[in-house]
Amino acid sequence: MQNNKTYIAFLNSKQKTKIMAIIITDECINCGACEPECPNNAIYEAGAEWAWSDGNQLSGSITVNGESVDVTRRNSPVSDDVYFIVPEKCTECQGFHEEPQCAAVCPVDCCIPDPDHVETEEVLLGKKQLMHP
Ligand code: SF4
Ligand code: SF4
Repeated sequence: MQNNKTYIAFLNSKQKTKIMAIIITDECINCGACEPECPNNAIYEAGAEWAWSDGNQLSGSITVNGESVDVTRRNSPVSDDVYFIVPEKCTECQGFHEEPQCAAVCPVDCCIPDPDHVETEEVLLGKKQLMHP
């Protein structure tokens, strides 16, 4: 396997089949049902800071889209109003489940494909491997 630090950048250059990350819309009722279901800890409550290393054994730094990132760095929330998904950490549950678990449990069907984050199955599986070697 490629060095973890460059793996995502490598896979982004190999895009083939298009798959989208999942996004939570503003119809979210903040029930919290989706958060514990995510195998990648990609879901956070409104206003929460997030890090790559949350819920996994990552350490040091990784390269994401050409940028070196400290995996323990706390990043700004994506939403201050409703639960949100960090698109860089979402793998659409590839490698864990047949379907996105957040969408499966959401009572108001507000977890939908995100056309702004189209990725290949290879990229998604690469991210899964990065976070869960
Ligand atoms: S699709 Fe899967 S990996 Fe992505 S946020 Fe939902 S539960 Fe997490
Ligand atoms: S399950 Fe749906 S409504 Fe509940 S917090 Fe998650 S996205 Fe929001």
